[in-house]
Amino acid sequence: MSVNIATILDNIAAPVVAATPIKDHTGKIIDFDIIYTNEEVKIASGYAMQNKPRWSDFAMNITSDIPWFKMALDAIAGRFHDDVRYFSPSTQAWYKIEMKWLPEDKYIIITFINVTSEREYYRKLKKTLITDPMTGFSNRTGFADSFAITLETARFKKYYAALLVIDIDNLQNINDSLGSQAGDKVILDVAEVLKQFQREYIQIFRYGDDEFAVIITNFESQDSLVNFIDCIYDAFQLKQISVSGGISMFPTNTEQKDEMIRFADMAVHYAKKNGKNSFIYFEPEMQRVFIQHLTIQTRMNAALLESNFTQYYQPQFDIQTGQLRGFEALIRWNDDELGNISPSVFIPLAEETGLIVPIGRWVLYTAINTLKTWQAKYNFRGIISVNVSPIQLLGDGFIEELLDMIETFKVDPSLLEIEITEGVMINNMGDAIEKLRQIKALGCRVSLDDFGTGYSSLSYLQMLPLNTLKIDKAFINDITSEDGVQATITRSIIDMVEKMGLETIAEGVENNEQLNMLNQFRCNFVQGFLRGKPMPYNLCDAYLAGDVNALLKN
Ligand code: C2E
Ligand code: CA
Ligand code: CA
Repeated sequence: MSVNIATILDNIAAPVVAATPIKDHTGKIIDFDIIYTNEEVKIASGYAMQNKPRWSDFAMNITSDIPWFKMALDAIAGRFHDDVRYFSPSTQAWYKIEMKWLPEDKYIIITFINVTSEREYYRKLKKTLITDPMTGFSNRTGFADSFAITLETARFKKYYAALLVIDIDNLQNINDSLGSQAGDKVILDVAEVLKQFQREYIQIFRYGDDEFAVIITNFESQDSLVNFIDCIYDAFQLKQISVSGGISMFPTNTEQKDEMIRFADMAVHYAKKNGKNSFIYFEPEMQRVFIQHLTIQTRMNAALLESNFTQYYQPQFDIQTGQLRGFEALIRWNDDELGNISPSVFIPLAEETGLIVPIGRWVLYTAINTLKTWQAKYNFRGIISVNVSPIQLLGDGFIEELLDMIETFKVDPSLLEIEITEGVMINNMGDAIEKLRQIKALGCRVSLDDFGTGYSSLSYLQMLPLNTLKIDKAFINDITSEDGVQATITRSIIDMVEKMGLETIAEGVENNEQLNMLNQFRCNFVQGFLRGKPMPYNLCDAYLAGDVNALLKN
């Protein structure tokens, strides 16, 4: 029986090519003549290789991604390229290219080994690696690839695209107070809402523990894109899930991938800071503020090292007798480069970086030191109030440090008042109450600052172990207005607080009208520009020494 090799080769599923070298007059190989191709080669090459071409035609007819000529020369030299792959658009298959030199016969054999199933396996493996098991969405690793592809496509097709980063509000608190199962439930609820929107041009990713990213593209106008994002927001509202979202727009904000991500992150940050539960679009102004904040944060580190902070003291007076109650310590910062920066700007930034802890320690130390000095010099029996950030209060070691300073300076702790604000404590009620109790157990006083802003509720007031309530300036501003609404509210607050056995201090009192009204309402103390502005140590010292003209007033 005679064997027809050509028939056999044509019936092998793998494309096979045989070629002989073409040499120039010096004997150098300059190309290859294709002497044989089986049927499969024609199919895989989409019939681009019907006539027996030369090696050099491969690049044009098959692909230029593969260094055909170099591979062949290497094969002759006995060097092999291990992992050269080719995707055939006509067979939709992946091939591994192998070349073998037959020195006896002086030709080279190329075999295309179909590795599609192997590749499929790796693709699936990769998919499991980039899939978040909890939600089934791709994770952050998967995000990077998809986002790059999306932006390339949008650029090519001239589509609008957006990146929406969604951060679940207060997930940490839910985990801490209700357990991680409750936290997981919220994550799944968020995923559920987002799933409704998933389609070819809306890709959703689990971007972090409490973050999701949504890539939206294929919109021909920015308006329709914004409408679509509104729908996502509404869906969360409907389910009463509180999330913060930040959006960057392509190409409106930028065409760059990394900037798109940075801008969306900035916008989320902004949404978080401004009350949460909202979606915010990136604006260039945010970047300016962001950079400014970074600069302040950097300079603040230096200020701490170089002792560039100072402490001012604002007097508080008894409304009825006019006698001095004491002073509130207020930090001041004059930076060489940035000038005067208000504590209402830099304190929140110090809270973000944690720098508030050493700053707060300095504030407390300086205030107690001052109290000691005035005690010794003037037999001062007034109260010094010190603002303490919730982060400082709830952090480790605050009580120990406070006790340590009281003992070191041997001051009467009942002359030291710790001022706290309510807003941030509400999430850590249990811990906060415990710390305040410990402060009181040391013999110090506790005062609640800025009452009347934010979360204020009287029922919640009763839970806190307080001595003093400070009514916020925003409240005092309007007490003299015609309609009398604010006056009525302020009067009833003072009445109730008095019944609870607390003292009241009115903040930000700027005129006599306000002062008279507060007197009628039986408010105990006043702190404001009318009676005394915050003053540097020296002026306070002069005032305590008897110079009444040292007081800075309106
Ligand atoms: P705060 O504790 O409510 O302090 C009162 C603020 O109102 C002070 O602003 C004070 O200068 C201002 N003020 C007092 N009376 C009047 C008035 O009659 N009219 C007007 N327009 N303003 C008045 P300041 O010193 O800029 O402090 C702002 C905030 O920064 C403080 O508000 C406090 O929350 C924070 N802060 C200041 N020093 C410290 C500190 O040492 N530690 C911490 N954690 N926070 C501080
Ligand atoms: Ca205060
Ligand atoms: Ca205040």
